[in-house]
Amino acid sequence: MAAMNDLSSTPAQDPERPQRVRKPEWIRVKAPVSKGYHETRKLMRDLNLNTVCEEAACPNIGECWTKKHATVMILGDVCTRACAFCNVKTGMPRIVDPLEPEHTAAAAAKMGLEHIVITSVDRDDLPDGGAGQFVKVIQALRRETPNTTIEILTPDFRGKMRPAVEAICEAGPDVYNHNLETVPRLYPTIRPGARYYASLRLLEEVKSHDPLIFTKSGIMLGLGEQRLEVHQVMDDMRSADIDFMTMGQYLQPTPKHATVMDFVTPKAFTAFGAIARAKGFLQVASSPLTRSSYHAGEDFAQMRAAREAKLAQKQTQKKAGREI
Ligand code: SF4
Repeated sequence: MAAMNDLSSTPAQDPERPQRVRKPEWIRVKAPVSKGYHETRKLMRDLNLNTVCEEAACPNIGECWTKKHATVMILGDVCTRACAFCNVKTGMPRIVDPLEPEHTAAAAAKMGLEHIVITSVDRDDLPDGGAGQFVKVIQALRRETPNTTIEILTPDFRGKMRPAVEAICEAGPDVYNHNLETVPRLYPTIRPGARYYASLRLLEEVKSHDPLIFTKSGIMLGLGEQRLEVHQVMDDMRSADIDFMTMGQYLQPTPKHATVMDFVTPKAFTAFGAIARAKGFLQVASSPLTRSSYHAGEDFAQMRAAREAKLAQKQTQKKAGREI
């Protein structure tokens, strides 16, 4: 039986643990049956768009799609990497769909989205890693739905990071998200094609290119990480000036994927969230069902308000300093 990880426990990798364990009651979600869910599904099919909601078998799909909130996954549905936690197909991807930017913008317009999250598979096969398609999607959204705020969740663009990040930042997304996924010790087994410090550097690069773009990153808990390793990731993220941290429970999509080592309790998630807030993030989301794009619109509004409040406070302090 996997441990229920409260803050007192310190999980460790144990190869003797069983492959699949019963989910605790706080993880169970209702089957998606609502009218809104079916409408969102139909719209995505009609526009030939993929979503990470379906491809990653996200547990929140019923709730999000009912509210017409879907995360569009561009650049196809086949990934060139094979991360141990991810349900997306691996292999040789098909050619890039030139209509995808317009279709994504059409979906945002039809759903009347105030905030949209766009992600993609890894495309190590493309010379720009797929950055150009992100740019086209952002441009199409700005044209068709100028009031929609845009959040992108990109791959690490291994070997071509700097030009990719520069091009995307020039296009001007509101939020740039890139997930660290787990603690550095677990990279060789969980995220073997990626490098922890390269991912941190990518997020630093976004800030140095345009400090006004909010940066966001997240990790999954329950993969065997230790409590202090999670705190270290928080410190690393703050050193890279990341604004928003997300933490959610890892769920094993199929028996072939990495085993759930621990189900972290809601209480422990709350405690991790409090520590992250104390470390200075503008926004933190930490709960078993937190995913990068879960409640992304509401969280974006709060993060923007938090930045404005911080800036106003700084100005007041500066003014008070001048008057002394
Ligand atoms: S949390 Fe994100 S990936 Fe999951 S269903 Fe909601 S929008 Fe889709």
